[in-house]
Amino acid sequence: MKFPSEPFKIKVVEPIRRTTREERDTRLRIAGYNLFQVPAESVYVDLLTDSGTAAMSDRQWAGLMLGDESYAGSRNYYHLEETVRSIFGYKHVIPTHQGRMAENLLFSTIVKPGMCVPNNIHFDTTRANVEHQGAEALDVVVREAYDPRCDLPFKGNIDLPRLEETINRAGPDKIPLVMMTITNNSGGGQPVSMDNIRRTRGLLDHYHIPLFFDACRFAENCFFIKEREPEYAHTSILDIARELFSYGDGCTMSAKKDGLVNIGGFLSLNDGQWAQDITNMLILVEGFPTYGGLAGRDLEAMARGLEEVLDEEYLRFRIGQVRYLGELLEGGGVPILKPVGGHAVYLNAKEFLPHIPQSEFPGQALAVALYRDFGIRGVEIGTLMFGKKDPVTGGTIHPELEMVRLAVPRRVYTNMQITYVAESIIELYRRRELIHGLALIHEAPMLRHFTARFEELQGSPSLEPMTV
Ligand SMILES: *Cc1c(COP(=O)(O)O)cnc(C)c1O
Repeated sequence: MKFPSEPFKIKVVEPIRRTTREERDTRLRIAGYNLFQVPAESVYVDLLTDSGTAAMSDRQWAGLMLGDESYAGSRNYYHLEETVRSIFGYKHVIPTHQGRMAENLLFSTIVKPGMCVPNNIHFDTTRANVEHQGAEALDVVVREAYDPRCDLPFKGNIDLPRLEETINRAGPDKIPLVMMTITNNSGGGQPVSMDNIRRTRGLLDHYHIPLFFDACRFAENCFFIKEREPEYAHTSILDIARELFSYGDGCTMSAKKDGLVNIGGFLSLNDGQWAQDITNMLILVEGFPTYGGLAGRDLEAMARGLEEVLDEEYLRFRIGQVRYLGELLEGGGVPILKPVGGHAVYLNAKEFLPHIPQSEFPGQALAVALYRDFGIRGVEIGTLMFGKKDPVTGGTIHPELEMVRLAVPRRVYTNMQITYVAESIIELYRRRELIHGLALIHEAPMLRHFTARFEELQGSPSLEPMTV
């Protein structure tokens, strides 16, 4: 079957509300046309993020009742430790409340000012945490990653010649570690091949530089390896994961992705001295090392989620559902980023709305139209999120890509709801010339996309009031 049906049935339901176009229009005005400011209750299908939005299984919910809320030595910690060791293989397991705390603890311990940390592409929080130490966060992904039409199986790979050039330029002693993000979130959820990981390890061995994984979507990456690297076609996801992590020295993890939980994360590594230093800091900022800012029940749900995410039936459905959305859109002629990654489909807003110049935020305009007309929430990844002020002219430097990301939460929406999303977007594409640009009227000095406010340049297009 090309697109497998859901390998689960629904035991608990959460009603979602259909709203009128008029209500959504009002919500948008109040929100200053910023979808982060729209209450979730007024959204019909919410594709803002796949982070912390997963549905837990009955087994995970049952695990919550088995939470051992002892301050020290909770049995759920030991279950988590055993699970993480059996998949990732590293000696020390340090729980944190989410991924960015794992990053903060790791980098504040081993990264010093003037150093450089290469990655295929740093995720925002990873980059911010490296830069917070006064170090450079450098992206060394293969160049094809920046071409939205280039359909390659492993667009998340590290460009090895560029990595070696970087090591030689900076000097190996200025590179405390190399990170590898699997799958590469900021590059569209594209996977990294086992071959590239093995070669990266080989190169780093030569210079005695440790390799750490940003492992948020490790199971999705392992599924792509199974699907696309012929020598792994008959290897289990667990064995692929074990081999993959054996090439590293540790990892940071946001369990809000492939941990299938709503909150949680961890740091796992082999180096005893680093683990000791990190643990000391953990006690200062998160909590005792056997709970790391979480309740015992959260640790249990995370341990169980990590076991469940390795299920191949689940992964085939998961990756298939995202691909299904991508293929429906392509069939309708909608311009999307190729190939479709693990967790999201990206609309190419520059091609979707060629009549809106980048200075009028075509990505944001598209996200606004999609919400107003159909109650679907995506997120702009373009000028609003990544536009920079030109230090010389004071004007805006626009990013190369202008996109709307539709991130699919895990085990949350049915294929029928995904079909609704695709059909809505195809309809919107047919009348795309009715969509107008936006003017930015307020922005914060940092991370402006969360709080920016806009005005519509030509008023909202008048359509029949619709209920979806
Ligand atoms: C989400 C994410 C993080 C940060 O994790 P949080 O749990 O949101 O703090 C780090 N790296 C990648 C690749 C991510 O997707």
